Amino acid sequence: MIGIGLDIGSVAAKGILLDGDEEYRVLLPTGWSPRGAGEAIIKELLDLSSLQRTDLHQIVVTGYGRVALSSADQTVTEIKCHARGVSELYPEVRTIVDIGGQDSKVIHVGTNGKVLDFAMNDKCAAGTGRFLQVMATAMGMDVSELGQNEDAAQTRTINSMCTVFAESEIIGLRAQGLPIGGIIAGLHQSVGKRVGAMARRLGIKEPIAFTGGVAINAGVKRALEEEIGCSLLVPADCQFTGALGAALLACNR
Ligand code: ADP
Repeated sequence: MIGIGLDIGSVAAKGILLDGDEEYRVLLPTGWSPRGAGEAIIKELLDLSSLQRTDLHQIVVTGYGRVALSSADQTVTEIKCHARGVSELYPEVRTIVDIGGQDSKVIHVGTNGKVLDFAMNDKCAAGTGRFLQVMATAMGMDVSELGQNEDAAQTRTINSMCTVFAESEIIGLRAQGLPIGGIIAGLHQSVGKRVGAMARRLGIKEPIAFTGGVAINAGVKRALEEEIGCSLLVPADCQFTGALGAALLACNR
């Protein structure tokens, strides 16, 4: 069975086409049009695989922009798709921590990727990828540069929880001449504390997988591990787990 799974997020739209053992992946910025990004990914995936739309069994779409893609066959919640994607990669995992561009989630999974419980923060930018993007911009960096530039030994705790105030705080710290590596480590600590507290509230069951675009950042992984006192499994394509879950569901797998 051939199927496409799309995860149209607030920052990035991700797509996976599964055709038996063959797998094709595309990531594009969501931009201002979730629908346009979704359609562009479908086209690229079909071009890459030399398949036609009529060859597909289904297109399953998830993510915040899922309602915009009316051409999909099915929309599925992010929680369900992340759980399905992670269970394929790590069947033994019992907790998933996913940090994306605009929300963070903690999901308890049972066998076969069954969702048992979850908690979500989508009301506030603190503890999300958006927080790190705003801070990186304030420091004249790209968000992808934060991980390798932190200096955890010099962590400078950021006191402001609110993204707007935290931005002012780090601009002030830079003006005082404090080293940037310690400030970055403080930002990672801030995300770790916020998401770690949510994980503790739901309950931490090991093994734990860490997914979403923010899981690319090794500094956030370090800080979150310190906060919850457990090591985290990060899949190689951690930003694609929602799309993978959607693609597996599109193939009735
Ligand atoms: P969404 O599904 O909401 O679009 P993603 O799971 O795609 O979110 O994650 C997007 C976030 O991932 C960005 O806000 C950013 O913080 C982080 N991110 C994306 N690419 C990188 C990278 N190369 N290095 C570090 N962080 C990254």
